[in-house]
Amino acid sequence: MIVVMSLDAKEQDITAVSQKLLQAGMLYQKAKSGDRVLFNVASEPELVRGLSLESFSGVEQVVATWATLPLVSRKQGRVNTVVQVEDISIGDGNISIIAGPCAVESEEQIVQIAHHVKSAGANMLRGGAFKPRTSPYSFQGLGKMGLCFLKKAKELTGMPIVTEVVAIEQLDLVCQYADMLQVGSRNMHNYALLKAVGEQRKTPVLLKRGMSSTIDEWLSAAEYIVSSGNSNVVLCERGIRTFAKKTRYTLDLSAVPVVKARSHLPVIVDPSHATGHWRLVEPMALAAVAAGADGLMIEVHPKPEAALSDGNQSLNPKNFNQLMDKLKKLAQALEKEQ
Ligand code: PEP
Ligand code: MN
Repeated sequence: MIVVMSLDAKEQDITAVSQKLLQAGMLYQKAKSGDRVLFNVASEPELVRGLSLESFSGVEQVVATWATLPLVSRKQGRVNTVVQVEDISIGDGNISIIAGPCAVESEEQIVQIAHHVKSAGANMLRGGAFKPRTSPYSFQGLGKMGLCFLKKAKELTGMPIVTEVVAIEQLDLVCQYADMLQVGSRNMHNYALLKAVGEQRKTPVLLKRGMSSTIDEWLSAAEYIVSSGNSNVVLCERGIRTFAKKTRYTLDLSAVPVVKARSHLPVIVDPSHATGHWRLVEPMALAAVAAGADGLMIEVHPKPEAALSDGNQSLNPKNFNQLMDKLKKLAQALEKEQ
């Protein structure tokens, strides 16, 4: 950590900082950068932050010089994390496809689409049983019945299930059915939930980026899960809020290489929620893979025009087939498997 003194810092300000560091038992080197004094402190960032040095007179800034997220940050020699969901490996260099409807609506719907996405080449089945909806009057999901229908679809197709947990009270129940727990965008800052999905350790977690979160906040949320005991975390970029109005959110594709450089965790992309329109899903899915994503999460519905949620952004079976065909070609060009 570097403590940067301001240009007008007085001698007694510099002495006060140095005394505080010494009292806290922290070793430091004092240096000059132009007319400024800097303290290079060799200590854990959280401990240095705990000294509240920015409240001291003459201190301009306290800045981190190395990863403040020790568990999710990439370190020299650290191999990439590969998250195993049953027989599917996410982050092994190939492209993993999670597909299915926004919400489980009936047994028939989820079983039908499960067979379809599986035959088109998807690796995992998604579908929300507990839905975090913006309006309390929108379809909230089938709850436990939805989980039972997902189980049925898994029995028939063999595909592992990804489904969302929206509250700690449902965690035990959802864990009985989910092969991967989704923590949604709206819950990325729910630290109690992050700790709970971390503490249960057994089931891997798909952590979506908060719609108004920076990459650092997103990685900090992942650190909560990993530091609570669950190192099987996959990050999912799903679009952020900007001033652009033609799409539901703005897909921050640059987050993929940024996160890959910063973290050893796998990153997938959800172009469905990011764009909000089915026509934009295919081009952004292809772009995500070209940008280095480890996989995709795609909403697919047997009849998008009749969907109870997110029909506008759901691909129909035919359009999903077309996307999968293009992905296969792209994967070959990138020397990956899909
Ligand atoms: C979802 O995947 O159905 C969902 C609600 O996504 P998000 O949390 O990204 O809005
Ligand atoms: Mn959705």
